[in-house]
Amino acid sequence: MNADFVKAKNDFLKAAKRTYESGIQTGTGGNLSVRIPGEDLMIVKPSGLSYGQCSEDNLCITDFDGNLVIGDLKPTRESTLHGNLYRRYPEIGGIVHVHSPYAILNSLSYEEVALITKHSELKLKYPIPVVDVVTQGVTPEELPKVFEAIDSRPGLSAFILKGHGTVAFDKTAVKAGQIAELIEETAVIHWQNGIYHMLKNQ
Ligand SMILES: [Zn+2]
Repeated sequence: MNADFVKAKNDFLKAAKRTYESGIQTGTGGNLSVRIPGEDLMIVKPSGLSYGQCSEDNLCITDFDGNLVIGDLKPTRESTLHGNLYRRYPEIGGIVHVHSPYAILNSLSYEEVALITKHSELKLKYPIPVVDVVTQGVTPEELPKVFEAIDSRPGLSAFILKGHGTVAFDKTAVKAGQIAELIEETAVIHWQNGIYHMLKNQ
């Protein structure tokens, strides 16, 4: 095993554990991945396993089209979105995708989630955009909508798929996971603040 792979694997396992412990993803939903540098390959969460079940024994390595290269379990359909992001944005090293409830709730009513807390304003460059796609796996036909959201906001580190969940990305999966957590925190406050103002104005 070369040093790059060991580093990627450790980032993957650490981010999976942290995301599981954060409680922002229940059951077997969501997906995370880490790029294996120089290989056009990624480590992805196997389908049907929770973040908490990810271990060294069930690593799933695929190409950027989601085809299994190493491992016994099936990668999720959602992994093709990850591969397309790695292919287009070389600076992305890790992606965390979660079905976190308040991010989803906001996405059903807003086109973006405003950075209304000091911490989100400090850490995130833009209000978090909502991308409206129909399928869960994001088809090739829908990808331009995702790319447009990112390309029009240089330095963007996350978007929310409407009615589906957050996709956060950074140099490492651990950092991406921290962004996903911050987005959920921001989404809770954004939603509750909206209710407060609605009631106040009645
Ligand atoms: Zn999903």
